[in-house]
Amino acid sequence: MTYWSPNRRDLILALSGTGLLAAMPLKAAAQVRARLVIVGGGFGGATAARFLKTLLPQASVTLIEANAEYYACPFSNLVVTGLRELSAQRFSYAALKAQGVEFVHDRAVEVASVGHSVQVSSGQTFAYDKLILSPGIDFRWNDIEGYDEAAAEIMPHAWKAGTQTILLRQQLSDMEDGGVVAMSVPPAPFRCPPGPYERASLIAQYLKTHKPKSKLIILDAQDKFSKQPLFEEAWSSLYPDRIERFGASEFGRVIAVSPSSRTLSTEFEDIQADVANVIPPQQAGSIAQQAGVADMTGWCPVDPLNFSSTLQPDIHVIGDATIASPMPKSAFSANLQAKLCAMQIARELAGKAPQPTTLTNTCYSYLSDTAAVSITGVYTNDGGSLHSVEGAGGLSPLDADPIIRQNEALQARTWFRTITEQTFG
Ligand code: FAD
Repeated sequence: MTYWSPNRRDLILALSGTGLLAAMPLKAAAQVRARLVIVGGGFGGATAARFLKTLLPQASVTLIEANAEYYACPFSNLVVTGLRELSAQRFSYAALKAQGVEFVHDRAVEVASVGHSVQVSSGQTFAYDKLILSPGIDFRWNDIEGYDEAAAEIMPHAWKAGTQTILLRQQLSDMEDGGVVAMSVPPAPFRCPPGPYERASLIAQYLKTHKPKSKLIILDAQDKFSKQPLFEEAWSSLYPDRIERFGASEFGRVIAVSPSSRTLSTEFEDIQADVANVIPPQQAGSIAQQAGVADMTGWCPVDPLNFSSTLQPDIHVIGDATIASPMPKSAFSANLQAKLCAMQIARELAGKAPQPTTLTNTCYSYLSDTAAVSITGVYTNDGGSLHSVEGAGGLSPLDADPIIRQNEALQARTWFRTITEQTFG
């Protein structure tokens, strides 16, 4: 098997657009010896490990990841609706190991920020000079009354890919024609803002094809949502009368569930579903709470210049766990934040100040198996805050020729191949 082993030329390609490479003291960084520990081997953490090891070949880079393999969420809505296999979402860490990143497959349970060490569940500890946390999200169990880990086995969230993805797929497949699918969407912020609506589109396509008497009810804790006009246009043209959505002001927010009867309760009514997909409220992964890098919101404030925690020294936080609005909680963002963070750590260890730069994000969403739309944002982190660059970025056009939607579906596949190769390949 051949792996993508990034060299300096690859770095130039991968970092073009961040504007940082020109400012990088590569020669000085190559000599730096430091203990760099990363918790979480997803789109953020695995990318950070890879780029740190490339930029700082003399440093020890240790990645603590609970699982032996990674299951990617992007494209998992296609798995839910039987259009893709879960095996296409699975990625190994072999390439990172071959590159010299040391792996600890265990759960980080305690960060001693004063002593600069991380303890894993086996009791082993790892000292660090710099720590990057990229633990993704955890769920706020019981924020929706009755929705706990046991309830998720009956009313799957499928918001972390793997067994939950397959459970939801199986339930859809087992449902009788005429059955009702209900999905609850949490209040923002949550992982992948357009994700629930992409899932709704693909479930609607699945129902239209396989269970034509069935419908989907979306119970939404938000009134407005990402790419709303594009999704609503697609729903009325591709899946008329198939999707009913209730926003927050129409009492859409789910406040309680009863798993035994698959009932979702809002302040207004109880809805009994045959398949219930409950996407619960979220917060930063639990290790971030323990490490003291999350604030009262449950998310982690960071300095957008280098994604260092504003609450604890020598700890950086990247990916979904951060407060990085207007950047969305996406794999694209996590990957780019990881590169930025690795670059700034390398600069700092080589005695250089962090440099402001530009960041981008593009999120593709499938409307059907052959049509997709996208939203692109461009951001800058100068002046102490992360903000959108006015006039840059944009949305797919409304009322577009179908060929445009088809091209975006193909571009989405290219994006997925590229980002997973850069991260794991
Ligand atoms: P993760 O990728 O979740 O990685 C976190 C890792 O940390 C995990 O491997 C976990 O095992 C590990 N971990 C956590 N705590 C510990 C601990 N204490 N010890 C050891 N290991 C730990 N994004 C896009 O850009 N485009 C899309 O099209 C897209 N589609 C999506 C569709 C769906 C249905 C969903 C749910 C998400 C989608 N996303 C998409 C969002 C994307 O998956 C996340 O934004 C991305 O995974 C965030 O990366 P991360 O590194 O922050 O977290």
